[in-house]
Amino acid sequence: MVNVDTPVLVVGAGPSGLTLANELARHGVTVRIIDRAPAPATTSRALVVQPRSLEIFEDMEVIDDVLAVGGKAPGINVMFANDKSVRLELDDLLNDPANYTTYQSLFTLSQDDTERILTKKLEERGVRVERGLTMTDLAAGEGHMIVSVRAADGTTRAIRCAWVIGCDGAHSAVREAAGIPFEGTTYPDEFIMADAELDWDLPDGDIYAFPSRAGFIAAFAMPGEHRFRIFGNVKAGPEGPGPEYSEPTHEEFQAMVDERMPLPATVVREHWVSRYRLHRRVAPRYREGRVFLVGDAAHVHSPAGAQGMNTGIQDAYNLAWKLALVANGIAGEPLLDSYQAERHPVGKRLLTTTDRLFAVISGQSATATFLRAHLAPQIVSRVLARHSIRTWLVGTLAQLRVAYPASPLNHEDGSGWKAAPAPGDRARQADVLIDGEPGRLHDLLHGTRHTVLLFAGTGGARQEAELCRVADRIRHAYPDLVTAYVISTERLTDHPALVGDPDRSAHDRYGLGRAAAAFVIRPDLHICYRGTPIDTGTLLAELARRLPGAAPKAVDSPFA
Ligand SMILES: Cc1cc2nc3c(=O)[nH]c(=O)nc-3n(C[C@H](O)[C@H](O)[C@H](O)COP(=O)(O)OP(=O)(O)OC[C@H]3O[C@@H](n4cnc5c(N)ncnc54)[C@H](O)[C@@H]3O)c2cc1C
Repeated sequence: MVNVDTPVLVVGAGPSGLTLANELARHGVTVRIIDRAPAPATTSRALVVQPRSLEIFEDMEVIDDVLAVGGKAPGINVMFANDKSVRLELDDLLNDPANYTTYQSLFTLSQDDTERILTKKLEERGVRVERGLTMTDLAAGEGHMIVSVRAADGTTRAIRCAWVIGCDGAHSAVREAAGIPFEGTTYPDEFIMADAELDWDLPDGDIYAFPSRAGFIAAFAMPGEHRFRIFGNVKAGPEGPGPEYSEPTHEEFQAMVDERMPLPATVVREHWVSRYRLHRRVAPRYREGRVFLVGDAAHVHSPAGAQGMNTGIQDAYNLAWKLALVANGIAGEPLLDSYQAERHPVGKRLLTTTDRLFAVISGQSATATFLRAHLAPQIVSRVLARHSIRTWLVGTLAQLRVAYPASPLNHEDGSGWKAAPAPGDRARQADVLIDGEPGRLHDLLHGTRHTVLLFAGTGGARQEAELCRVADRIRHAYPDLVTAYVISTERLTDHPALVGDPDRSAHDRYGLGRAAAAFVIRPDLHICYRGTPIDTGTLLAELARRLPGAAPKAVDSPFA
């Protein structure tokens, strides 16, 4: 690699940039992160942290700080004017195999708290956000990038780096300098939002949505008594939308509440208010050579579903381990192309689904108004009465079902998988015994390595000892890059790689029966390989293909 100031430069210290910088540092990559703002933001903005993001925060070792500050939102309520209400009880719905997670509710945490916690962890990892530095231009050098940066005093400087990551939000200067378009449009309506105190008869803690003929209003519980984030759409007047950032008034919020909520409610006071326009846009390319886009720089959509920040966090979690393997010479550049292949479809799909949902909940056409007033109460309550639909909906909202079915990294051997998770899926959570103590399967997957899970099967074939030897061989071949475990319902041997599954719950959650099966899990806890029956040579070949820059250490390895 040519001489650079830093291998990776992250532009923007919002949730996406802070996640990426943290992850790179955790994976042992030297990183710099700059932000044009002289100080961290202090407003609440993104409030809902989805369960999948909490799983990521656990891997990032910030979960204790997050749980200490935020609050659980155990239920989502859709309430209509005619007393037809639907409540989604989240812990009940986050129990099926694909949804099962340690974090069985949505979680509310102000974005400034999220950013503060991520910044603190980053500093513990030895990286400081360099503030007051604005990225102004990019140029490609031979095997590196030159990033022009302007300091607060007007002086300029150039930073040479191998990769530059645009985490600089919807108006991304990195995206523009890289010549990547941002395709889409702006919604005609305005939105008004307040972090407010509400006096009403509904309990604290939950999330409430009130679709009505006039439009839409929602109330998301915030930490604190009677504190809610309320927001709704405001029809643009005949002159079109008003000035984008004129402050909405107390009277506007109370009028919206009176008009759209089917119960008496008083807005006691507002703590933070905002008026804004919404956009639906996505970059057609998330990568241009040595430039990557992450988070709002790559995609923006309506807030329906509270997905924006969470999607940026997952973008970053997806990209970081790949960049680390390439920066450390373990994997080749093509691995980086899988970022576009995996995350772009997620961003595009999100745009489509939130757009449709948004059209129904806030659209002003005669059809949308009729739907909200007359059909939605019947349809929503009937559709959501079906457990399978509720389960799918909540798992999707919680981002636990994000999958990369078309990823070039996916591979499988064998057949008869039935209900097993496929390559590209998130590795499922399960309850197991680790060192004889109750634990969770994800505990084994955390860290920076790939993990091979060798499920012994429920056929009583008593092959634990042989599988433990396979696990040993893998661990020995790639000590810093891969670890391996044997999931056994039998527990006949005492071995450090052995994980107990006495009630077969892990086998059940992985849809496995009598036959043994292997899964290779990536550092971002997505499955990249599954194979049955288990074949040591095939597994080692899989790992060698994925980690070509690592010399396997096993003496008798076919790749030695
Ligand atoms: C009112 C509101 C409510 C929301 N609610 C939710 C929710 O409940 N759940 C959810 O998931 N999402 C929500 N969102 C969306 C969420 O806030 C965004 O998706 C999220 O902030 C995106 O994070 P990011 O890091 O990609 O970009 P940003 O948060 O926009 O961060 C970009 C950073 O880059 C810096 N920057 C910009 N340009 C430059 C430059 N040229 N040089 C250097 N630095 C630069 C900025 O100062 C900023 O710090 C909400 C958004 C709003 C506005």
